Amino acid sequence: MKISKSLYQVRAYNIKHSYNVNDFLEAYRQLLQRAIEEIWTRIKWIEKHNCKGRRRSIPIIPKENSFKYHYLRSLLMKDWEYSKHYVDSAIKQAYSILKSWRRSYLKGERKREKPIVKKRFVRIKETLYSFKDGRIKVSIKPYKGYLEFDISKAWFLNRAKGEMGELILNEKYLTVTYRFNRNEEVKGKIAWDCNEKSLDGFSPEVGWIRADLTKLFHIHRVYEIKRKRLQQKASKKSSLRKILAKYSKRERNRSKDFIHKMTTFITRKFKSYVHGLEDLRKNKMLNNSKKHNRNISKIDWKTIVTFISYKSNVTLLNPKNSTKRCSKCGMINAPKGALYICKCGLRINRQLNAAINLYLQMEGLSPSPKLFNKLMKRWSGFTLTGEEADEGFDELERSLRLMNPKSYVSLFKTT
Ligand SMILES: [Zn+2]
Repeated sequence: MKISKSLYQVRAYNIKHSYNVNDFLEAYRQLLQRAIEEIWTRIKWIEKHNCKGRRRSIPIIPKENSFKYHYLRSLLMKDWEYSKHYVDSAIKQAYSILKSWRRSYLKGERKREKPIVKKRFVRIKETLYSFKDGRIKVSIKPYKGYLEFDISKAWFLNRAKGEMGELILNEKYLTVTYRFNRNEEVKGKIAWDCNEKSLDGFSPEVGWIRADLTKLFHIHRVYEIKRKRLQQKASKKSSLRKILAKYSKRERNRSKDFIHKMTTFITRKFKSYVHGLEDLRKNKMLNNSKKHNRNISKIDWKTIVTFISYKSNVTLLNPKNSTKRCSKCGMINAPKGALYICKCGLRINRQLNAAINLYLQMEGLSPSPKLFNKLMKRWSGFTLTGEEADEGFDELERSLRLMNPKSYVSLFKTT
C-alpha cells in the first residue's frame, strides 16, 4: 500500500472490460521481470562497517544513462512486439521496485533476494492514452492494436473531480484514476491508536477522540461462534465448505460496511485534518497474542487505513514504542491494564498515551513535560484516565491539566 504524503488525492474507479489481454499482460510481466533481472545482476555490493563495527553489504543500483537508456532499453526492445512506450514504463517500474526493495533491505525488512513480479497488470501513464468523447483509447501494438473503453455512461464521470491520471489494466478491469489537488487548508493533525475495541485519536485542538469498535468486535465474534457451531454439527464436508465460505463473505461485508461508515463519519467530522495512522507493515498488532489478532485483524486495520486514505489525507506512522513510551517524560515502561502509569507522575489512559506519542511523531517532536503541559492546556472536565475528575483522589493535581474526550464517536445507531 503506497500512500502519498502530498496533498494530492487520488481516486480510482474500476470498469469491467471484456477484452482478452492475458497475452499482453503476461508479456509485460516478463518484460518487467527481465528488466529487474538485468539491473539486479549489475548491482554493486559495497562492504561497510556500521557504528557497532559490524560488517554490512550495501547495494548500489546502477544509474548510468548509458546502461538505463541505451543498453537496457535496446535489450528489452529486441523481442518486444507491443508498443515501445511499455518498455520505458517497465524500466521505470523496475527501478522503482528495486529502490523500494533497497529501502526495506537497508532497514532489515527484506532479504538479499531479487524481487519477483507475480501480479499481471500494466500501468498506463496519462501521456500514453487518449480520452475523447467519453472514450479512452490505449495503444497496445504500434499502428494497429489498440483497446477502446467507452466510459461515457460510467457512473463516476460526473462525480469524479480533477484530472484523469494513470490507468491500470488487468485481466478483468480497467482502473481509471483521478488526481486532484486538495487545496483546502489543513486545520491540524490527528494521530490514531488502534485497539481491539476502540480507535483513539489525539490532536491538541480537539483533544481525545474515541471511536467505538465494539460493533466490529462483535461481528467477528458472532461469525466465529457460528462457524464453531456448524463445524460440530455438519456431516457433509463439501456442503460445510460452501456454508463457511458464505459466512466469511458475509462477515467481511458486514465489517467492511461498518468500517466504511465509521471512516466516513471521522473524516467528515474532522475535515481538513491530516490523519496519522500506524503503518500496517510494522504494526504491533501483528506481534501480539493470537486472541488479539483475531479481534482486530490485519485485514480490518488495512481496511481502516485504506478507507481513511480515500476520504482524507493520511500519514503513516511507525508504531514502535507508541504504547510503551511515556508521552510526558519519554521513559519506556511496560503498561499493564487500561492505565498507563509512569514514575514521573503521569496517570493516563493507555490508548490516549499511545495516541499522544503518535501525534508527537507526526510533528517530529520528542516528549517532554513542558510540551505535554502545552498540549493539554485547552482541556478541562475529564481526567487523562478517562474517569471523571475526583478531587478527593487528588487527581486534579496529579494530572496537571484535565482533558475532555468530548468527541466520542459512537456508531451503534448507524445500522
Ligand atoms: Zn513519564
